[in-house]
Amino acid sequence: MSEYILVTGGAGYIGSHTVVDLLENGFCPVVVDNCVNAIVAEGHKTPESIRRIETITGEKVIFHNVDLCNKKDLESIFEKYKFSAIMHFAGLKSVNESVSNPMNYYEVNLGATINLIECMKAYNIFNIVFSSSATVYGIPERLPIDESHPVGNGITNPYGKTKYFIEEIFRDLAKAESQWKIILLRYFNPVGSHVSGLIGEDPQGPPNNLMPYVAQVAIGRRPILSIFGNDYDTPDGTGVRDFIHVVDLAKGHISALKHINEVCGCKAYNLGTGKGYSVLEAVEAFKEASNKDIPYKFAPRRLGDLGDVHADPTLAKKELNWTANWSLSRMCEDLWRWQTMNPTGYNPNEKI
Ligand code: UDP
Repeated sequence: MSEYILVTGGAGYIGSHTVVDLLENGFCPVVVDNCVNAIVAEGHKTPESIRRIETITGEKVIFHNVDLCNKKDLESIFEKYKFSAIMHFAGLKSVNESVSNPMNYYEVNLGATINLIECMKAYNIFNIVFSSSATVYGIPERLPIDESHPVGNGITNPYGKTKYFIEEIFRDLAKAESQWKIILLRYFNPVGSHVSGLIGEDPQGPPNNLMPYVAQVAIGRRPILSIFGNDYDTPDGTGVRDFIHVVDLAKGHISALKHINEVCGCKAYNLGTGKGYSVLEAVEAFKEASNKDIPYKFAPRRLGDLGDVHADPTLAKKELNWTANWSLSRMCEDLWRWQTMNPTGYNPNEKI
């Protein structure tokens, strides 16, 4: 019988791609999501992303509309299934929103995680893979960033701080109770979509992240890209990031799951390619993949942004047997396919 894996936030961008991989690897994902950021088509109870996963895989996905902040509802899920591990993607994720409403971010992201940990303890489940972020490194002291780089210094927004605080909770927990096996996956910059073009990133409102914005300019949803800063200490002056294909990222979660029993306590791994590309290089790659012009203008630096952030992914290769395989041009091709097949994301009624 296949193992039940609880996937919190499985209707979201990275969660949905991981659910596809879990199914393809013979696991039985149980998705819980409160759908605050998910589109549910009229007449349906399941988010559109989940229905599309069913089309891709030909399998039925177990889905429950549950808010992790509601502990009773969460407990009922633990009561129903015997999980072998948890993958914890759920959380609020907008940097801007977190600055204007920090308490909501602390309450939801920390509260949900604490409820989850308490349920896990109550049901004797101690294996968890957590969606962390490169943002926990704050301002890089050295490049590329490996996992021994200090964390928690100079994080400029509450969203990033929730990732760091949750990491701290997991580290404390693992110190206090020896049965825990916790993997913190620190994502760099996920881009792209499943090759089918059926699932992808679906920002609500104007995208905050670079590549979804570029894709919306290419398709004519936005007139022009603002490039925030051309005076960074980088080869062309624009920011440099470690863009990673979302499918590579999803595969990193499967590798983590397969190796989780070798972990003793709490262990962090970078999920990145190890190669940095500038904003201008990324725009150029997207232009080539889409064959569209991407008008842009230079604008002042965005508050809290960093110059160059890229990973040393050696540890994940050594211990999880995982490496990112797909190039920036492949990320752009797949993102463009998703964008052209779904000009307004999962919501067909939205205006372009
Ligand atoms: N960026 C930009 N214009 C945008 C969005 C982002 O020039 O509309 C730049 C941003 O300043 C940074 C890079 O693109 O240098 C990546 O930004 P993103 O928000 O995607 O990721 P993060 O900064 O969180 O790594």
